[in-house]
Amino acid sequence: PLPRPWLTHYEPGVPHDFQPTERTLPQLLEHAAATWPDRVALDFLGATTTYRALLDDARRLASALHKVGVRPGDRVAIMLPNCPQFVTAFYGALLAGAVVVNTSPLYTPSELGHQLTDSGAETLILLDTFYARYEQIRAQVPVKRVLVTGIQDALPFPKNLLYPLKARHEGTWVRVPAAERTLPFSAVIRSQPPAVPGVTRRPGDTALLQYTGGTTGTPKGAMLSHRNLVANAEQARAWMAGLREGQEVTLAAIPFFHVYGMTVAMNLSVLTGATMVLIPNPRDLRMVLDGISRTKATLFPGVPTLYNAINTHPETAAHDLTTIRACISGSAPLLRETARRFRDITNGANLVEGYGLTEASPITHTNPIFGEQQEGSIGLPFPGVDALVVDDHGQPVPHGETGELWVAGPMVMQGYWQRPDETAATLVDAHGRTWLKTGDLATMDDAGYFRIVDRKKDLIIAGGFNIYPREVEEILMTHPAVMEAAAVGVPDEYRGESVHAVVALRPGQTVTDKDLITHCRAQLSAYKVPRSVEFRDELPKTAAMKILRRELAHDARERMKAQ
Ligand code: AMP
Repeated sequence: PLPRPWLTHYEPGVPHDFQPTERTLPQLLEHAAATWPDRVALDFLGATTTYRALLDDARRLASALHKVGVRPGDRVAIMLPNCPQFVTAFYGALLAGAVVVNTSPLYTPSELGHQLTDSGAETLILLDTFYARYEQIRAQVPVKRVLVTGIQDALPFPKNLLYPLKARHEGTWVRVPAAERTLPFSAVIRSQPPAVPGVTRRPGDTALLQYTGGTTGTPKGAMLSHRNLVANAEQARAWMAGLREGQEVTLAAIPFFHVYGMTVAMNLSVLTGATMVLIPNPRDLRMVLDGISRTKATLFPGVPTLYNAINTHPETAAHDLTTIRACISGSAPLLRETARRFRDITNGANLVEGYGLTEASPITHTNPIFGEQQEGSIGLPFPGVDALVVDDHGQPVPHGETGELWVAGPMVMQGYWQRPDETAATLVDAHGRTWLKTGDLATMDDAGYFRIVDRKKDLIIAGGFNIYPREVEEILMTHPAVMEAAAVGVPDEYRGESVHAVVALRPGQTVTDKDLITHCRAQLSAYKVPRSVEFRDELPKTAAMKILRRELAHDARERMKAQ
């Protein structure tokens, strides 16, 4: 067996051995409804749904989907923000034996079209305000039936009356044509008995196609099975030894259509009977802050940009955030400064960094929540996870040296949907197991703590030296005027590439490019210091709030060409 030095650093109560239970995701919901029937499962801006009612709705939707022809293995695409209908649609489609295809509400028509065609989804469940985008591509995609829902269906009185007015005012309201194949979601649910169609669902069945660029960039569907997704929720449960079943309140601000939100904010809540406080728009900071203080949220999984936004928002001080006990930050590096400021404003909430990727359902590493954390590290592999740092030949490198991170365990995907070559390039058999190559450069220390050095493809090479953008960003963020920062590589006649910084300043702050360069020069070797600085009001981000570095690099290059 491979060495696992990290086990000695597990917190008391965290198991060293881990085997997932052989369950499907709907079985988690059935268990929650049986164990905590009257506990609030969903809180949507004050409108609540109990676990018993949630299971009922999911069953009604499953029987409706079955009735309109959805069969086991069929793909059902969902295009919804975090709202009660998302959870119903997800578990309902799975109860009908279907495979869920998550799509992002920010997709352009062509991105949506690619994903619907690639996955072969014949059923689409979407929000009325997104209908216009679907309409542009509906002639080219395999979709046969559309279930449409509106946010107001789930809002409490009188917000349900006000919402359509607001949406119309903002110009986003669309009238859904009364096409035959378009079914109103709420009516469909109400018209059906809460009976589950007689289909078999097995833990090894694919539950989800989660689209990702992976390490090569082409969008493709990672096939995640019920076993994969249940395992990752159970691994997270095992990690949080102090979690109180049936009592926690999870702020579900990160989107469920990204696998991180799906596992940590949704499936983990269902597994443990937590209340999910649904935030449909995490960019609306007031909604996030109100959600925490109104519900006294205790768990808050998030991403660095979100914690950072809370740190710098003028209304944060007026909200009580002290009920928050534990936060896992994932999906991008958590800069030290962000973590420190957040702990200050929440009165010491345990904000710990974790790491994962779509292909691993997604979490593989996290710092101990109440125990020994190492700032700047992604922590220790989860129970049941094996991890290696390897050289270009797949051989483990000595502790402390940089190599590619490989992971193995029950949460690793089945492969990419209909892409055997990409699957073969990503899942490799070695050292007696199947490993997922992450495409991330990492180190492991003697104690078994891992650090992500950077993504292989984000590396900047200047005059033959490797520059990890993260190192430059850490320094930029320590400047008091800086709110967000990214470092990207741009072509340089002499050095091949040089560092270009893009920053957004805190409201009301001013600073010049020279000031920032001087600030960096005091702390970084000369070749790492940005040669140019660009100011933006805000950095562009994905729907999962990850900074779009590639877009920033592309823009900077185009601008240089034009000059
Ligand atoms: P995705 O599959 O879209 O969730 O993206 C996964 C990628 O996000 C990983 O391969 C990493 O490059 C990056 N990532 C996730 N968590 C972290 C972290 N804590 N630090 C640095 N990069 C991270």
